[in-house]
Amino acid sequence: MNKKHGHQSSIAPDGCQGILEGMFDGVSIHDLDFNITHVNQTLATALGLNKEEMVGRKCYEVFHGTSRPIANCPHARALKTGQRANVRLKEPHLGGITIIVSSYPLFDGDGKAIGAVHVVRDVTELELLEDSRNKALEELRRSNADLEQFAHVVSHDLQEPLRSVASYIELIERRYGDSLDEDAGEFFGFVIDGVNRMKDLINGLLAFSRVGTTESTRVPTDFGKALAAALDNLETAIQESGAMITSDPLPTLTADPPQITTLFQNLVGNAIKFRQANVQPRVHITAEKRPPGWVFSIKDNGIGIEPRHLDKIFEIFQRLNARGDFPGTGIGLAICKRIAERHGGRIWAEATPGEGSTFYFMIPETAGSENG
Ligand code: ADP
Repeated sequence: MNKKHGHQSSIAPDGCQGILEGMFDGVSIHDLDFNITHVNQTLATALGLNKEEMVGRKCYEVFHGTSRPIANCPHARALKTGQRANVRLKEPHLGGITIIVSSYPLFDGDGKAIGAVHVVRDVTELELLEDSRNKALEELRRSNADLEQFAHVVSHDLQEPLRSVASYIELIERRYGDSLDEDAGEFFGFVIDGVNRMKDLINGLLAFSRVGTTESTRVPTDFGKALAAALDNLETAIQESGAMITSDPLPTLTADPPQITTLFQNLVGNAIKFRQANVQPRVHITAEKRPPGWVFSIKDNGIGIEPRHLDKIFEIFQRLNARGDFPGTGIGLAICKRIAERHGGRIWAEATPGEGSTFYFMIPETAGSENG
């Protein structure tokens, strides 16, 4: 038995080498004087060294290429505190790899520290992956912000020329309407229709981009009051359709009140709009506590939706019905999705064609993980 082996048995029990070799991570044991007494093959391979080259040498020499312990040496820390020390280290000396070292002190039968065991994980690849993922995320965030800004500016700037087209069309019709023949009158109708539609689309797009670009305030929000405000805004549609709207008591949660009103307004508005011919629209709103948040539902007895379209409808400009049957721009649900997600929640739907639809949205108890 050479000196090195004599060293080993004073710190770790016989058979310990077998245990180290069985471990998934790289492992080494060092004595009080920073001498490496044991090392497993995984660690030697990870460092590109032979086990024989490592045992008996100072750990700082082998790991860091220094002539004395480094400032935040995990071995020294574990020995000093008597507790586990975790350190992340970049090792230029070992080709620039990054390792996480977890050091744990070893004690003799009298409770005296005699060395420490080190579990070493090479996280270089993981770090590279993390780096590229963070870069991709940052890139995505930037391009999303650019797109939002673009949509906002374009829709905002388009309003002005459109307003001027609309007012001159109106003027021409008023001044020359009587002298137009039947065809020209019909064509004029199409133009006005087109202008109105474009106005709706631009306003919708502006509302959609506002959910992303406007600073959002999160305050305790009475969802019952937000629903009442939405129903106020929908008063004409409710009266004209004879809809019966009922609601269970709704909770107060941290949220952006105007956005929650918009959410209810779009969902209840759709429940009324997509009603069945000759059937009184009935809409019922519920709220159920389902940690980590509350799930709200808006159930109607309308035309329903084919199950295969249930995801598609939340995408912007996606509509399932002819414009002639039901007016709209296909932006309402995209806005709802954005609002739910901005609150850290989500939105989904269930439906049966010919029977009705139920839209659900979840708002976390402590909403507002995302800004905006
Ligand atoms: P819009 O109402 O302007 O068409 P939305 O984004 O609000 O746009 O809705 C997208 C599509 O989802 C609608 O065109 C319609 O086909 C379908 N939809 C939404 N709500 C309902 C509902 N309550 N019942 C049946 N279909 C619905």
